[in-house]
Amino acid sequence: MSNVIEKFHCLIIGSGPAGYTAAIYAARAGLKPVMYTGLLQGGQLVNTTDVENYPGYPKGILGPEMMEDFKNQAERFGTDIRFGMATKVDFSVSPKKVWIDDEKLVEADAVILATGAEAKWLGLDSEKRLNGSGVSACAVCDGFFYRNQEVAIVGAGDTACEEAIYLAKLCTKVHMIVRREEMRASKIMQQRVLDTKNITVYWNSETDEVLGKNTVEAVRIKNNKTGEKTEIPVTGFFVAIGHKPNSDVFKDFITTDTEGYVTTVAGSAKTNVEGVFACGDLQDKVYRQAVTAAGTGCMAALESERWLSEKGIH
Ligand code: NDP
Repeated sequence: MSNVIEKFHCLIIGSGPAGYTAAIYAARAGLKPVMYTGLLQGGQLVNTTDVENYPGYPKGILGPEMMEDFKNQAERFGTDIRFGMATKVDFSVSPKKVWIDDEKLVEADAVILATGAEAKWLGLDSEKRLNGSGVSACAVCDGFFYRNQEVAIVGAGDTACEEAIYLAKLCTKVHMIVRREEMRASKIMQQRVLDTKNITVYWNSETDEVLGKNTVEAVRIKNNKTGEKTEIPVTGFFVAIGHKPNSDVFKDFITTDTEGYVTTVAGSAKTNVEGVFACGDLQDKVYRQAVTAAGTGCMAALESERWLSEKGIH
């Protein structure tokens, strides 16, 4: 590893709505933030199409365009945006050390973690091919496009139940594919699913294939007890089998919950390490929305600014 060292007041790791919002606030507060974007510049939203639920875009906007707007706004106030991955950190020292792409070492007084989370996918080729053309991992983001249509959802946790119920309000019918004969979700959520008339649960069922040429036309499921295959015509296929927060690189220093989500002090972006703040999906397994990520990004920047001035670091 090289010893090239640069030193910043405020380092932001990650470039989704949380990271860019933190950058806008930190830059406007004069912290001269430096952002390392990670591999997927713009985060999960660059893999989506229309975003219709972000305030300020009354006609909707494409995810990648929205993230370009975020980036331009962060740059306008002087954020130094660089392409690179944080591959190792040492948060036991002050200033904190962060290695970029396994080679460059940078140091920062305050660090804002905004590396997000990734949806888990089933791993089918057809799921990948039709991603964004009927296949989605976010019912709240994309459910609206399937109103008055039939959709399928796979998963049996709280997210899948919550999303199935959300979809049931918009769609004529929701086919819920559950791989075991019971659900992992909390009892109350399961009961709500079972009480919703237009949700049909397929127990012991796996997704065999998502069918359709250019857009989703059906899903073929396989009963893993009988081997029987069934084709269900649907226009939307939602995958809700969990997310993986991108926290591995911080885990030796930063407290996470059992699923790897960074633990923040309630109502704040503070982590267990002084001067390290976390925002966005990295620390949020409940809402996972661009607007909530942006909100916590703002919190992280304001708290960084406060912390730096309390420490007399200017
Ligand atoms: P979970 O890990 O809880 O559940 C994932 C579900 O997906 C499980 O039912 C699992 O099945 C299923 N699954 C995993 N892989 C596959 C696969 N390859 N094929 C089919 N099914 C698969 O994830 P969630 O996102 O639901 O929840 C994450 C956490 O967030 C939980 O702690 C949850 O309670 C919490 N949460 C809380 C909410 C709230 O409080 N309002 C809302 C949403 C989430 P199996 O059970 O067989 O392993």
